[in-house]
Amino acid sequence: MRVRISSELIDDADAEVAAAQLRKCVHCGFCNATCPTYRLTGDELDGPRGRIYLVKQLLEGAEVSRLTQRHLDRCLTCLNCETTCPSGVAYGRLVDAGRRLTDARVGRSPFDRWRRALLRELLSARRFTAAVEVARRLRPILPRALRARLPVPPAPAPARREAPPVRRVLLLAGCVQPALLPNVGRATRRVLAAAGIEARVAAGALCCGALREHLSDHAGALAAMRRNVDVWWPALAFGEVDAIVADASACALALKGYPQALAGDPLYAERAAAVGAAACDLADLLPQLVPRLAGRLRPEARGPLAWHAPCTLQHGQRLSGVVERGLRDLGFDPRPAVREAAMCCGSAGAYSLLQPGIASALRERKLAALRETGAPQIVSANVGCILHLGAASERPVRHFIEVIDAALGPGDASTAPV
Ligand code: SF4
Ligand code: SF4
Repeated sequence: MRVRISSELIDDADAEVAAAQLRKCVHCGFCNATCPTYRLTGDELDGPRGRIYLVKQLLEGAEVSRLTQRHLDRCLTCLNCETTCPSGVAYGRLVDAGRRLTDARVGRSPFDRWRRALLRELLSARRFTAAVEVARRLRPILPRALRARLPVPPAPAPARREAPPVRRVLLLAGCVQPALLPNVGRATRRVLAAAGIEARVAAGALCCGALREHLSDHAGALAAMRRNVDVWWPALAFGEVDAIVADASACALALKGYPQALAGDPLYAERAAAVGAAACDLADLLPQLVPRLAGRLRPEARGPLAWHAPCTLQHGQRLSGVVERGLRDLGFDPRPAVREAAMCCGSAGAYSLLQPGIASALRERKLAALRETGAPQIVSANVGCILHLGAASERPVRHFIEVIDAALGPGDASTAPV
């Protein structure tokens, strides 16, 4: 696709990023067939190809309106179109840049500015934990819709005796997960410990930055990334740890993107590259964990599981099939949905809060497809998907690491893991 950047955007970094992706697009429209919003609304401007044209017009100096912003906002950034595109268009980079340029041109309504600012501040880890604690106390008098978004965590499982670790990694705690799904972090640490890996949570690390980016706070997202690089890099540089693990696939994708996000910052580029190279999703570790855990799982605790692959895992990190293989090797029966397997569930970071209508419609389709597997529980790999699906599912929705943890027998400190 030919694009001529208008004179007022000629030196703009976002315009350059968007133009580089636009030039790869050959207008084939394959991406529309796999776009959840296009399938729901049938409007070309709610599909990737239509949004690409909107960004092209913006770069070439055509008039931009709130309608342009609305169609870009409706994109889930699920990246299903990136998986489909035969020309390698990095659509996620393109739409992020397009959104920033649109916001700079047309601004946002006072209401939209207010709710985005409120969410940004509320979703910072410390404030969010305090708010969730208050909400849990008020649970009986909360409206049903709010109660559904506030799962009751299980009591911590008794400690297991494990052999001393042979490896150490850093674990990103995340911003909303410790408050809403505290059992996920506990299960991750317990399962890693059973495999001989000590997972340390670095004090002072912030949210990975993804949520701030979703809420139109690019500067805040970069600040969170720089802060995390400052906190993690010394442990990597001195060889105290050899990886930075995220047990939420959205966070893992964000961490892997640090080198690209901070490439233009001469103070941080090198260290961000080291952090990005050390970043891994829990799914990346699973093949290494399987041989160390296989003999310890109780057969009666394994069974069929409906598997929902988060977009950030299958499209963002291209880790399709890894968790299913790991679970199968451990004796579980993971069953991916036959229909809708590549489709977003509607969670998409803060999307379900900002676009509740589309998010609910996508969730209904996803839950119906998962129900067809016949499995009594659903497992996934990302806090956002688990909360979003869990708020409307009659079956429990858990992180895959929780079911592995629950199936692990007692520890055996006499057998050092290999
Ligand atoms: S990222 Fe997802 S919602 Fe956005 S255009 Fe691509 S497929 Fe559609
Ligand atoms: S599939 Fe790729 S090349 Fe084809 S229209 Fe979509 S973005 Fe452009």
